[in-house]
Amino acid sequence: CGIVGYIGENDTKEILLNGLEKLEYRGYDSAGIAMLNEHGINLFKVKGRIAALRGSVDHSVHATMGIGHTRWATHGEPSESNAHPHQSTSERFTLVHNGVIENYQDLKKEYLLDVSFVSETDTEVIVQLIEKFYDKYRNTAEAFRQVMGLLKGSYAIALIDQTDQDTLYVAKNKSPLLVGLGDGFNVVASDAMATLKVTDQYLEIYDQEIVLVNRNFVEVQKLNGAVVDRKPYTAQIDA
Ligand code: GLU
Repeated sequence: CGIVGYIGENDTKEILLNGLEKLEYRGYDSAGIAMLNEHGINLFKVKGRIAALRGSVDHSVHATMGIGHTRWATHGEPSESNAHPHQSTSERFTLVHNGVIENYQDLKKEYLLDVSFVSETDTEVIVQLIEKFYDKYRNTAEAFRQVMGLLKGSYAIALIDQTDQDTLYVAKNKSPLLVGLGDGFNVVASDAMATLKVTDQYLEIYDQEIVLVNRNFVEVQKLNGAVVDRKPYTAQIDA
């Protein structure tokens, strides 16, 4: 029920785990993080609270980008396999999602009959669709935009493409999501509280917008790819 993401120069583990602790009030039946480094995706998931996740993470893994999730199950019981992040079959794409995809059964029938699913979540449909559309468009940003255009329901999403260590793909509709701006890093979070320790500069993201988040820049787009000009504001909540 809460997502967090980081891309920058420093190690991402503590930023993700601290962020998730701050988001636990939004839901806490299971949790996970995925971090990308030169060895690939490092994925850790648990049933239970962030404290349990902290205990299961390999603290020797060093990565400068990652995504995290604290779950409040809507589709599929709380379990390790239903915990986020979820991956596509090839493991190229890894994604966290807060919200509910109302048409996930229809999308599964229309596009994913040949895919074997490893979770019972509505969320896994999103990441499998991205892989499907990537096969068609050979461009992750385009596949991401196309898939976001198909989803009905609520979502705050952060996606990692295993072959790209420079971009977090982010999208929002009817679930809260902010992008925080730093010097040499950027963050995403369901609530500024999660990341106030690292920045107080935030971009508000509106429904049906996509954000490409790099270490040194952020590009907000509409679903049709048109670039949006958005000015940051200063968050003034006590961290
Ligand atoms: N619908 C998704 C699930 O059940 C996301 C729930 C959430 O927002 O935590 O896994």
